[in-house]
Amino acid sequence: MEPARKRGRSDMWEHFNLITPDKVRCLVCSAELKYHGNTSSMIRHFTAKHGAAVNQGNTNQVDRKPKLDEALVNMVVKDSQPFSIVDDCGFKEFVALLDPTYTLPSRRALKNMVLQRYEEEKTKAKAVMQRVEAVSLTADMWTSINMDAYLAVTCHYVDDSVKLAQCFWECCLSLKFIQLLTSLLQ
Ligand SMILES: [Zn+2]
Repeated sequence: MEPARKRGRSDMWEHFNLITPDKVRCLVCSAELKYHGNTSSMIRHFTAKHGAAVNQGNTNQVDRKPKLDEALVNMVVKDSQPFSIVDDCGFKEFVALLDPTYTLPSRRALKNMVLQRYEEEKTKAKAVMQRVEAVSLTADMWTSINMDAYLAVTCHYVDDSVKLAQCFWECCLSLKFIQLLTSLLQ
């Protein structure tokens, strides 16, 4: 009884979707339940069917949360996904089915995590660049659908193990190009 009470009423809406005014669907097992204007049947269903998974999840939630957040940042960066993906209902259902204990970060929190990752990777890239003798710069320019001009700069260089490597250095509005060049030459 106690875990259900602790999770509380509003938390239940993380695991259920209201599909009609009097029906909800469990995001974990897709079971449909009658909805009478309160969450008691949802709590009963969730505790009976998924209680074990929830309790087990809660114990290692502290360990899992940073790893899952990191994987989410990887996905957003590698697949060029918008920050708003955390508000997409299909994605939320998918994540809830994979791990009902994981709470997705907010759009703003995700943006800050990506910015932090950018700073970390930039620091690493700068450290690598300082060790190489020479780089070759390649620039690519394009115009976005709303006519903003973009410029991407890629560095090619030969690393310590004599392998050709590349570093996607920066992508910015071309108006900022002068500032970018200044920062690269520093
Ligand atoms: Zn269920």
